[in-house]
Amino acid sequence: MSGKARDDAPDYKKEKKRVDNRKMDELRPISIKVGVLPNADGSAYLEWGQNKVYAAVFGPREALPKHTQNPMKAVMKVTYRMATFSVPERKQPRPNRRDMEISKVLGEALDKAVFTEQFPNTEIAVFVEVVDSNAGSRVACLTAASCALANAGIPMRDLVAATGIGKAFGELIVDLNKEEEDAPDAVDIPIAIMPNSGEIVLLQMDGLLTKEEWAKLAPMGIKACKAVYEIQKKALQEKFPISELSEANVEAEVAGKDSKEVPAKSETKVVAPAKAEKKDDKKADKAKKVKK
Ligand code: ADP
Repeated sequence: MSGKARDDAPDYKKEKKRVDNRKMDELRPISIKVGVLPNADGSAYLEWGQNKVYAAVFGPREALPKHTQNPMKAVMKVTYRMATFSVPERKQPRPNRRDMEISKVLGEALDKAVFTEQFPNTEIAVFVEVVDSNAGSRVACLTAASCALANAGIPMRDLVAATGIGKAFGELIVDLNKEEEDAPDAVDIPIAIMPNSGEIVLLQMDGLLTKEEWAKLAPMGIKACKAVYEIQKKALQEKFPISELSEANVEAEVAGKDSKEVPAKSETKVVAPAKAEKKDDKKADKAKKVKK
């Protein structure tokens, strides 16, 4: 990945800040919106710095052709694509080896999170489209895809939260941008975890690190993934706000009680049907009087 060496290459150890003024462990701004594509069963749009990606989920649906079916579980079929205009030099629309590699590793990562065993002989199709990119597009796509799966209502152990970590211009850093990915000493490590269990579901490495550097970098990656996770949860909560009633149900479930036994906080607010009943009673009384 390391590209053209710059004559005026920065020295992060001295300068203490990055080419885009970020701190060494700072992510680029991330925003996520779920449920943006009505034709899909679940979808998400994510902006991560300059990266802009869409994720669309279909299924679980019958896996076709039939020989692709697995009688034990659903098959995750991920298709990663970059728009021709998503990079400075036109990208060939035909899927290349990189597109196929990324589709494969994203599928393997999402497969760990989904309860695929609940849907034998089916496929869950995930399409991720990069419309603008500046390094870290695979982790952006993985983050968006897991939100789209949740939006589709597919049962999951956890969301998958991802980020890039690595090294550039002499320092260990989080979320490399394109200039950093092209640094002469660049090391690029996409990492994804399921934050509740801490299980790593994607880990790739382009470049070399010492054991000591990895020991410092890994916790930076986990921390950054957890920050991404918070943004994912917020995006889903915006789409599916938790009402007081469902909050009471959750509390009841945690307490191990039947939710119907627990008086919901909002029960006192449900006055409309009671009023209507009273009106009906009055009407019935009047009718009785008239009959008499
Ligand atoms: P990631 O996008 O996950 O960082 P890579 O490590 O392979 O994946 O980095 C490739 C980056 O290079 C892309 O994010 C993109 O910004 C940039 N790039 C520029 N031209 C191309 C191209 N033709 N194909 C793929 N990536 C390109």
